[in-house]
Amino acid sequence: MTARRAALATAPLALLAALATGNVTAAAGPVMTGGMQDLPPLGATTSLLVVAPHPDDETLCCAGIIQRVVRAGGRVSIVWITSGDASELDMLLIEHRLFAPAKARELGARRMREARAAATLLGVPTARQLFMGFPDRGVLRILNLDRTSRYTSGFTDAAAVPYSDAVFPGHPYTRDGLEQDFEQVLARVAPTLILAPTPRDAHPDHRAAGLLATAALARSAGSGAQLRYWIVHGGEGWPSPRGLEPGLPLTAAPRIRGVTPAVFTLTTAEEDGKLAALRAYDTQLRGLKPFLLAFVRSTELFAAEP
Ligand SMILES: [Zn+2]
Repeated sequence: MTARRAALATAPLALLAALATGNVTAAAGPVMTGGMQDLPPLGATTSLLVVAPHPDDETLCCAGIIQRVVRAGGRVSIVWITSGDASELDMLLIEHRLFAPAKARELGARRMREARAAATLLGVPTARQLFMGFPDRGVLRILNLDRTSRYTSGFTDAAAVPYSDAVFPGHPYTRDGLEQDFEQVLARVAPTLILAPTPRDAHPDHRAAGLLATAALARSAGSGAQLRYWIVHGGEGWPSPRGLEPGLPLTAAPRIRGVTPAVFTLTTAEEDGKLAALRAYDTQLRGLKPFLLAFVRSTELFAAEP
């Protein structure tokens, strides 16, 4: 166990939990070390795991670095914690109503198909496209349950993974189920580099996915994997400006003020590839186009600190 992982395994988990529940803000919170932390070298021995709370996050955060690892001959896997089956905006735009469990599951299945199309465009093979099928908007609540209490999604009405092509269909929506399924994914992928959402993200599923990855890695002493954090819901109108501005670098998000991320610079071809992958997300582009397109920039940012 490295010193960093040992540190993560103890006190900082309380900090992470505070961050995830919103009880610590960047302004009032602890002083982060803020040092520039480079990404590890990317090559044929890299096994990259991108942890995406929802379909589209993997492209927003990481499409450039995914393409780079694929091009270098490394392995890339993506695990989607949820299938995005609770987007009120989607339900309104597509179904013209808010609550219809069968329609919510159809939406989840559709977003999984979009995610497969995007991942395939980025060079990630089908066998490394892993869907856990946990409930959109429910991940943080599940992490806060006692270990075996069952959670039922208010959107899909499911209390277990309802998708037949998920990694573990039928597994229960419990904290034990979530943690064990994620650990199984880690064991299957054997990552050398994990890119996960920061527990400072404004979206609770993102905060929960960051906590899940941090805690799982802390438990798997000796795996050797490195963990870096990205953010999508970065606060205060970020990313700014909205819309497609190819060639413009991504600025640091307000919610991670005090943290200096490593800057990954995309080639023009990688930016084009990122845009092509994003265009696979018809459901998301309907309502969120200027926000989503604002991630197609010349850089992606990854921080060593949560
Ligand atoms: Zn998301």
